[in-house]
Order: sequence, then structure tokens, then C-alpha cells
Amino acid sequence: MRDLSTELIHHPYTPPKGFAAPQPGVFKASTVIFPSVAAMRQREWKDKTGYTYGLHGTPTTYVLEERLCTLEGGRQCLLLPSGLAAIANVALALLKTGDEVLIPDNAYGPSKTLAEGELKAWGISHQFYDPMSPPDLARKIGPKTRLVWIEAAGSVTLEFPDVPELVRICRHHGVITALDNTWGAGLAFKPFDLDTSGDSTIGVDISVHALTKYPSGGGDVLMGSVITRDEALHIRLKLTHMRLGFGIGANDVETLLRALSSMPLRYESHDRSARALALWCQNQAGIVQVLHPALPGSPGHDHWQSLCKNAAGGAAGLFSLIFDPKFTVAQVDAFCDALRLFKLGYSWGGPMSLVVPYDLSTMRTVWPTHLKRGHLVRFSVGLETVADLQADLELALAILQP
Ligand SMILES: *Cc1c(COP(=O)(O)O)cnc(C)c1O
Repeated sequence: MRDLSTELIHHPYTPPKGFAAPQPGVFKASTVIFPSVAAMRQREWKDKTGYTYGLHGTPTTYVLEERLCTLEGGRQCLLLPSGLAAIANVALALLKTGDEVLIPDNAYGPSKTLAEGELKAWGISHQFYDPMSPPDLARKIGPKTRLVWIEAAGSVTLEFPDVPELVRICRHHGVITALDNTWGAGLAFKPFDLDTSGDSTIGVDISVHALTKYPSGGGDVLMGSVITRDEALHIRLKLTHMRLGFGIGANDVETLLRALSSMPLRYESHDRSARALALWCQNQAGIVQVLHPALPGSPGHDHWQSLCKNAAGGAAGLFSLIFDPKFTVAQVDAFCDALRLFKLGYSWGGPMSLVVPYDLSTMRTVWPTHLKRGHLVRFSVGLETVADLQADLELALAILQP
């Protein structure tokens, strides 16, 4: 008889046979047990027919990867501990000293900061292009360009670019395209199938998704994914993923698997409420511009319409307001502080509505002509009743009136 401490570790356990439930089982492992030395030597960590180490996947992470591929229309998926880590993984896998990356000027802020920090320090240059001007992108692609980022819609200003055209330009120059697909979430449009003119071969090479947002839906999990359709490209990204040791916790994967099934319903609800509020804001005093891609007149509305009309037609739950420059920063801050249901906080996709004031002049290389001058405030609409959110906005707007 072995000692109890040994028995407790080697206690036999077999996952139940003949058991089925709506949710997949959750398997946690750093260590994976091999039945023999031969099996240990044979198993290839890149090959998904077997398991080698927790960092390289478990049955639980494989299920999430497969579901995300189904969601976005890709074939391979990598999971990372945050959306930003997913962005960094793409950069580190595809860029080396002497290369250049092109980033839209309205991109997610930390993505720009990565280029200005680590990438620059390692001799990788970057340029910011005007996402609303395909000729500007074409002009900036040079012999050193290896990667072009696309974001639709832009994080804070929500312009919707001509995604198929940007991809066509990159294809023409043989440059890899990576889309930050967090806003579209795989629901507003299909990143690998941007079929708007009968050209079914046009699609991005890589789709990055901050699962922190709509897939999580709770404001409580950080995770990111990198999805591809090309095995060779996936392996390039996966080697970097392995060498950097990006791991994710099984509890977080479990939360994601649970939340993912309700995402289409939640996305639709966020979308409906955001459109209603954006429309209402258009008629309020003190606001010079409402930014929301589904709103006629909002920058890139036509592009949104042509890309998203064939899919579910979604437009996420974000909108931004530009307040009249006659107000002081303190007045606009006071408006944000006066909101009761919209809480001050970063990120989006959770049940609670959020608000953040941004100083656009520090975020863009130039103030784009399609944006009115003024103070920008971005709203992330949660799952509250829209009438309550409108009343909240109405009360806070009242403090701006003389
Ligand atoms: C939030 C976000 C990210 C980063 O995701 P984290 O999980 O917070 O690191 C990247 N891109 C966009 C567009 C985002 O909104």
C-alpha cells in the first residue's frame, strides 16, 4: 500500500463516459501525461491530434479555438492572454529589423504605442495612414512594408474604411493584412470573405479579436485571438506564440465558452440601443457631430453599408459625440461625471454602459477633415433599458445648457 499522499495524487480518474451536457468539460493542465516514452517522443506539439503541454493546448482551449474559427470564418486560431498580446504576437512574428508596419491613424491606441515603443526600439519602422484614403495607403506601401493593420470601425472615432479596397491594395503589393476585428466581432461582416463585388477571394490574412469585449460580454475576462486561413502563416504566428510562452487560464476559457453562445443576441441588443441613442443625440444642443457608422452622414457610412448589409448588418454598441468647442474641457468632464448609468471606464462589450472623454488632438497625427473640431466623448452602450440610458444622457446634457 502506497502512502496516502502518493495515493491522493495517483488516485484513478477517468472522465465520465456516456455523459452529455450543453457545456463542454473544463480540463486544466500545465502537465500532460504521456502513456509511454515512445508517445512522449512521437507527439508533435504543433499537431492538434495529441496533447503535449498545457501551453500548447487542452481539449478545452481546442473547443474555444474551433468555435472562434466558425465565428470568424477562419481555419486556425491562437489564444492569447489579452487582445493587445494578440496584436503584439502578430507584430513579433512577422516583423524584423529593417521592416515597416503601416497602421491606420485611428487605430486602437496601445497598438500605435507598441509601434512607437518596442517595435521602434528593435529597428522596425511604422507609418500611420489615413484609413479613409486608400490612395494614402497605396502611397505609403514601400519595399520595407511587411504588414498592414486595418481597423473597422476605428476605435474611438468610428470611421468605417473601405476594407475590401484596402485589402486589394495590400494584395497587389504582396503585403500581409491584419484586421483588428474587435468591433465587428465576426458578426457585422466576415473578415475572410469581404465579398461585395462578386470577388469571393478577397479577405484579410489575419483577424485579431479582443475577446475581452463582446465574446466575454462580462467586463471580467481578458483574452485575445489570432485567426488565419492559411496554415503556413498560422505556423509562423504559432512559433512566436510558443516561444513567447503566451498561456491562458482554463477558467477564463470556460467563461468565454459559456458567454460565446449568447454573443449574437447581446451584440444585437447593444447595436439596437446604440443606434437609438446615437439618433437621439443628433438632435441635442451642444453636440456638433455624432459618430456611428450606421448613421447616414457618419464618416464611412457608405462603406459600412456595402460591407455589412449582406451579413447581419450589425454595428456594435459604440458611438462618439463631438461637443461644441465653445465648451471648456472642464464642462465636458462635468458632463461625463454627471452621468449615473454610464460609468467612467475603459473597454466595452459588457452589460454596463461606459463613457470615456478623449483628447483627439493628442491621438492623431492630423485632425481629419471629416471630423468636426470639438471635445470627443465615446460611449459604449451596455444592456440596460434604452429609455433609462436616454434619461441619463438627458440629465447630464442639461448641465451644459446655460
Ligand atoms: C480592447 C481592444 C483591444 C485590446 O484588448 P485587451 O484585451 O484589452 O488587451 C484591441 N483592439 C481593440 C479595437 C480593442 O477595443
